[in-house]
Amino acid sequence: SLSPLAAKAAEEVSAKWKGTSATGGNTKNYIGGEFVESKADRWLEVRDPASQTLINRVPETTGAEFDQAIAAASEAYKTWSKTSIMRRQRVMFELQHLIRQHTNDIAKSIVLEQGKTFVDAQGDVGRGLQVVESATAITSGLLGDKLEVTTDMDTYSRRTPLGVTAAITPFNFPAMIVLWSAALATVTGNTLVVKPSERDPGATMIIAELCERAGMPPGVFNVVHGSADTVNRICDDPAIKAISFVGGDNAGKHIYDRAIVKGKRVQANLGAKNHCVVMPDANKNLTLNAIAGAAFGAAGQRCMALSVAIFVGESRQWIPELIERGQALKVSGGFEPGTDLGPVISPQAKERIESYIASVPKEGGKILLDGRGYQVADYPEGNFVGPTVVECTTDMSAYKNEIFGPVLTIVSAETLDEAIEIINKSKYGNGTAIFTNSGTIARKFETEAEPGQIGINVAVPVPLPMFNWSGNKGSFMGDIPFYGKTGLEFYTQRKTTTALWPHADATSTRASVAMPQ
Ligand code: NAD
Repeated sequence: SLSPLAAKAAEEVSAKWKGTSATGGNTKNYIGGEFVESKADRWLEVRDPASQTLINRVPETTGAEFDQAIAAASEAYKTWSKTSIMRRQRVMFELQHLIRQHTNDIAKSIVLEQGKTFVDAQGDVGRGLQVVESATAITSGLLGDKLEVTTDMDTYSRRTPLGVTAAITPFNFPAMIVLWSAALATVTGNTLVVKPSERDPGATMIIAELCERAGMPPGVFNVVHGSADTVNRICDDPAIKAISFVGGDNAGKHIYDRAIVKGKRVQANLGAKNHCVVMPDANKNLTLNAIAGAAFGAAGQRCMALSVAIFVGESRQWIPELIERGQALKVSGGFEPGTDLGPVISPQAKERIESYIASVPKEGGKILLDGRGYQVADYPEGNFVGPTVVECTTDMSAYKNEIFGPVLTIVSAETLDEAIEIINKSKYGNGTAIFTNSGTIARKFETEAEPGQIGINVAVPVPLPMFNWSGNKGSFMGDIPFYGKTGLEFYTQRKTTTALWPHADATSTRASVAMPQ
């Protein structure tokens, strides 16, 4: 059963919000401005990762319900795309206010379904809120270009919405990633169908209610639940013009390939294996605290988690202290005060993580801190894995694969060049960080390392929303990245007008057929 703190939160969330239950009920779809109970014959269970208690059930939306959502979004597009940009801007102002007002409710729902700690869940909402805040600047963001070509001719461009768009989101940031699309798809005049992760749908349902209260007309923001079947409908439906996907490599490649051939625009943020480099001249405490926070925070279930640390030269001597930092972290239920790491998402995830740890000694590596079999007294059923540190070479499976758990892999390098070579050989390119006090070393690193998000003494260099999310290589598929200027680019297309307003009628009566220049 739920812990006393979780049970109280579950009651509160269920009493306050229409679309979601946290006491074992059904999650609703949100179609055309209505929270509707699905007639699905297949339901997926959402369980508290700290206790396995049933939180709610999610429908595998039926084909007919999916079609209703598309019809509602298509109908709403006709008017929403023509509403003034100030009105859409005002909806964003209202939405940012409402999200701030209800951050704790969204965070409670996240802790119940996803397991992360309450402060971390508040951060999940906060990072999404920043994108909503940036969307309030839409009136500057969509300013076009105009050129007087000659005294009677102008060329000017504008950015127009695409139509119905869709977002398919992962379990690990149930508020932040939904808000990326909720804000940018709608403020640019599109309508949106969200298919949230089936493992933690609650945050999306609260966001749906807030979008409604903020003034989005029915059909502008819709939610359909489900797994692969619903996703395939999104890929295939001709009304959907663009898909924003965030999640793992397999689902992402499948969605990208299936949707691209249907002529859709797709942006897909995929998996990661983020390395950091520790130089001997770095500030020791700053470095070790930052690495422990980024490797073990959110139980390692962040796509920007640091999962590999490369110690260069003498910095190797700090490894025992890094292990102490990991050992000092408190592992418990996400609502418990002082908890640093909650459980991982599911028993299957725990098993996967533990089997990667087990593979290390079998393949010739060393386990320096072992978080397997972690027991938390008040949560005997929880999916807990304690902070883990392993030492590997780059040919071992724990190094090569995304583990997505609180496991830090240590590899060694004699020089900075060797460290950069290791990073650049990885198929992924989401983020990387260096810890150093030398500007020269940092400059070389940021120039030569290939990942798209570089931290210099910053372990989790997720760009603020005036920049864009810039994962590279195998961590991204598509052409136009998420949020920032490119986010507006993704959700709009350009139209360029060339206009001639001559002062007098032409004198010749013969048509010219040559290409006009
Ligand atoms: P996931 O790929 O299992 O699920 C993501 C979405 O895809 C969900 O909505 C799910 O229903 C759907 N899906 C899953 N399998 C599918 C299939 N076979 N066919 C069609 N749809 C399918 O990912 P997850 O476990 O929820 O999230 C963790 C992954 O997401 C990690 O790999 C992590 O690195 C990645 N991630 C990346 C970023 C980034 O910005 N690069 C951010 C967050 C998470």
